[in-house]
Amino acid sequence: MHHKHLAYICMRILGSTKQDHINMLTFQPAQEYAWSYWEAHWRAFSHTIELDDEDARRGEMNSLISHLRLTHSPYCELAFATYILMNPEPPPPLDVIFPEGSYKMEPGVHDTALVDLLQENVPPTYSVVIIEAVSILRRRRPHYDGDELQAIWGEITPRLPDLSKYYLDVVGMGVKYLFVDQPVERGHIFTCNTAKPPATFLWCLTSLPQHLALAIQHEPSGLYSWPLAHQEFYDCRATWQTFFPEIFYEEKEYKESLIRNVGLAVRAAAKLKGSEISLDDERHLWQWNWEMSFFSPLKMLLQSRRRETKNIELSDLVNAYKTLAECLQETCGHEECPVGALSQSPS
Ligand SMILES: [Zn+2]
Repeated sequence: MHHKHLAYICMRILGSTKQDHINMLTFQPAQEYAWSYWEAHWRAFSHTIELDDEDARRGEMNSLISHLRLTHSPYCELAFATYILMNPEPPPPLDVIFPEGSYKMEPGVHDTALVDLLQENVPPTYSVVIIEAVSILRRRRPHYDGDELQAIWGEITPRLPDLSKYYLDVVGMGVKYLFVDQPVERGHIFTCNTAKPPATFLWCLTSLPQHLALAIQHEPSGLYSWPLAHQEFYDCRATWQTFFPEIFYEEKEYKESLIRNVGLAVRAAAKLKGSEISLDDERHLWQWNWEMSFFSPLKMLLQSRRRETKNIELSDLVNAYKTLAECLQETCGHEECPVGALSQSPS
């Protein structure tokens, strides 16, 4: 039991650290100890709970979140909500993303991806502790336990806001993760942020339409406009050429599920008051397209036409996904579809 107590103290110390990034040089000895050992204490305690003792695990989960709400305020709620809402497994099977054991895959991959996704909203010193503490206690992998975590969310006292309140936050984080702004003469174009690790990028890309549909259904008058970060130019070959075809053409269910969820998002967006999004509007093909990448001989960068603002709007987002889904379904208007060409590219 002393391990739990020590872990809780470490969490409290780390939660009071006013640093955005871990920097051992500026840490006080107590912080240094807390950062180096909180995980070992928490792991040691978590291993004392029998694997099949669901009640104990659930009780400790309640206690942990209540503690983190105090120590890691105001970030605990958003980090935990994102943990629950983002599908726990990056959709592409990990052995597709990292073939032939070239990387040793650890459960930590999911945690790292979440920390990366939350980065702009939650300082990593906070999100790392919240996310890893939950993962260690759940021993969640390989099974999906989002439903149970949702139930736990509802049991915590004092009560947490309804989980649906976070749908739009997850969308916002995803949008800013996936798209970047490239300033051009007299305007901006939006394009994919392929500087992100391929696994996280594709995880976000494929899961976003589902969150978008839920967000619109729950918050029809929400703010659906996001300022994008600038992008230096990146070479996107690794993501598109290698991973994209393997995921969308080798693992058909990911393609099907993306297309299905894009349909849901488009329909939800079309119902919004004053919406300019129509289901069979072909304008999206004019607004978003696959463009020649500056450094690459293949056309494989999804990007918008020139816009006047650096804010990506709901219609931009929906149009981008409509374009992608139509290319994947081979119903696009391209004479030579660059996405289709990817399916034939040697992998
Ligand atoms: Zn196409």
